[in-house]
Amino acid sequence: MELPGGLLRDGRLRRDYLFKTVTGEIERALAESGLNTRTLPEQVTRVLSCTLSEVAGFAVDEALCRSLSAGDRQFLVLQLEALIDASPRWITAVCAGCGEQLQFQIVPGSLPMKPAGEGYPEREISLSIGEVSLRVPNGGDEEFVSTLDSGSRFPLSELLFRLLRSQEQPVEVDRLNDADLEALDQVLDDMSPQAGVAASIECPHCNLQQEAAIDPYAWIVRETASLDLDIHNLAFHYHWSEKDILQLPRARRERYLQLIDRSLGKYRADDLVQGLQGGAW
Ligand SMILES: [Zn+2]
Repeated sequence: MELPGGLLRDGRLRRDYLFKTVTGEIERALAESGLNTRTLPEQVTRVLSCTLSEVAGFAVDEALCRSLSAGDRQFLVLQLEALIDASPRWITAVCAGCGEQLQFQIVPGSLPMKPAGEGYPEREISLSIGEVSLRVPNGGDEEFVSTLDSGSRFPLSELLFRLLRSQEQPVEVDRLNDADLEALDQVLDDMSPQAGVAASIECPHCNLQQEAAIDPYAWIVRETASLDLDIHNLAFHYHWSEKDILQLPRARRERYLQLIDRSLGKYRADDLVQGLQGGAW
């Protein structure tokens, strides 16, 4: 898998990336990523910086995660979700036609991605004020916008001020007209990589075909709630230290937990059912 956008390195776009092995330590860092971060974009920076091992051959830190385009960050968060737990998950939505609750399943990591378009990550564009260069928003811009006062009157102007340059100089965004804004919007749309964050579903009650929104970041909040319980169970049965348990890859931790369950007889009912289906009885 490659990033849908990528990072420029020595004038060349590179799309390679590598996650660390998911251990309890990584999950603990994920679980605590919301502490001391004020907004979701800041939390995403924290999450990516503690789970990625390298991007485009660069070692990863928070500054690098801020320099990734918004679309690449979204892609990486979705890939990380699949890496941690690839089992399908249920999404609940409300039908736009009849108001009934709809449930559908998606498989983590399977959402379609629109790759970056021509000129990514920065491209020249002709506006009424002359030639300017426009770059796609990155994590730093997302963090900036998310921490603006909710009373800020011109968040779009403040964002454009960061994205536009005219011969390396800032652009007077107040002078842009409606046609300029429309052109900028169009170029950003073409140039930016983006995850498909809606699923096409049909309501079984009223048959309305509709797009249901999917929140690519919802799992960050939900994930890892059970980590403390896992640590408790393993420490209780094997007498391992918390540090040792946190260093286990997730798959091995789950395997040990299954073995504990098995030795406690929790699988007896399942075994009986399987025996019946197999005709052994
Ligand atoms: Zn309906």
